[in-house]
Amino acid sequence: MDDTLSTRRPVAFPASSGARRGLSILGSTGSIGTQTLDIVRLFPDKLYVRALTAHSNVELLIRQALEFTPECVVIGAASAWAPLGAALQGTGIRVLTGREGLCEAASLPGSDVVVAAVVGVAGLEPVLAAIRADKTIALANKETLVVAGALVNDLLTRHESTIIPVDSEHSAIFQCLAGEPLHAVETLILTASGGPFRTRPAETFGAITREEALRHPNWSMGAKITIDSATMMNKGLEVLEARWLFDLQAEQIEVLVHPQSIIHSMVTFADGSTKAQLGMPDMRVPIQYALSYPDRWPAPHPRIDWGRLRGLDFEPPDADKFPCLRLAYEALACGGTAPAVLNAANEQAVALFLEGRIRFVDIPRRVEAAMQQLARAVQPSYDALVEADAAARRLVLEHGRGVPD
Ligand code: NAD
Ligand code: MG
Repeated sequence: MDDTLSTRRPVAFPASSGARRGLSILGSTGSIGTQTLDIVRLFPDKLYVRALTAHSNVELLIRQALEFTPECVVIGAASAWAPLGAALQGTGIRVLTGREGLCEAASLPGSDVVVAAVVGVAGLEPVLAAIRADKTIALANKETLVVAGALVNDLLTRHESTIIPVDSEHSAIFQCLAGEPLHAVETLILTASGGPFRTRPAETFGAITREEALRHPNWSMGAKITIDSATMMNKGLEVLEARWLFDLQAEQIEVLVHPQSIIHSMVTFADGSTKAQLGMPDMRVPIQYALSYPDRWPAPHPRIDWGRLRGLDFEPPDADKFPCLRLAYEALACGGTAPAVLNAANEQAVALFLEGRIRFVDIPRRVEAAMQQLARAVQPSYDALVEADAAARRLVLEHGRGVPD
């Protein structure tokens, strides 16, 4: 472990080079993607867009392409290829498609930063491509490290690539660690809002509706991560993300419920001192920090009004009400294919819940069943991880055919 750096590598940016940074924004039509473009609008003298990618929201992608005139755009869904090509004809913007196009955008020569904001394991392959192309990566896509943290870290040792976290908790820890020796880190304390069901009695969880689960108290995010926040799987995934991002052991990573989402996370050091990073819950702040690092750029994001703050509350997470958190720690302890199975089973179960095909309480049950059947404590290759992912999705789907929860 490198002892002086806050993540695995120093970031390649010169501290204040003045040069504009070119961005490849993967998942530009999503919650993180659109907020990244808000930051580009704030700093046109510092940032510009080289590539934009989306899965199926072709209307928004066209509007973004016409506003930011990147070198290329990428669309995933085959049905959107023709309309995108037609809309951008004569603009000089290259139109790429599918997974190959996504990987090309992630490794585009001349892009200084790749913003990895695709949701789910679909974001893994382009991140690997970005590392191989020696890119600086602003990483929002936590599933990449959850599923393939060991492979990613191994690849990072062989390339001039750096990961800067965008996830607010990991950005907070990254900021707390700046200038600190990693050997002096005792524990990371990941804060969690507790989601919309923190105070709801467990006996009523069977009746939770899709709309209730999509109503997060503090953050406005994409549908998948919003459901993950309601089950607290999001915090479990973040424990795994922190393990690989900061090269720490499971025992060093704690979760603390903090309903106001003002403290974004904390680090306790060997001498008993704790550092915290605070701010209003606004993802534009950690996104901007990942793009400005190691500098900080003046911006009009909301400030904490200290005089009106009526207190900061804390409580331990309720492991019985939120079994997903326990399952994530189990996947971390098992290692091997377990995190890939956890992630894929969760992605599939959340998709089924959003389609109204299973209940909220079935999500952890399906994930646990998949882990019991499929998790293996072996050192997996990339192909083995892809296989484990596919097997877990199949199992969660088959569970739906006839087998009662
Ligand atoms: P979102 O659903 O709003 O957007 C996802 C983006 O990915 C869209 O642009 C979509 O077109 C694209 N996409 C979806 N499926 C794809 C596929 N199969 N192939 C290629 N592209 C695909 O999601 P989000 O909330 O912006 O989250 C993105 C990532 O950032 C997730 O990993 C999430 O956990 C993480 N994150 C989000 C937030 C937040 O506030 N939204 C905070 C922290 C971390
Ligand atoms: Mg987070």
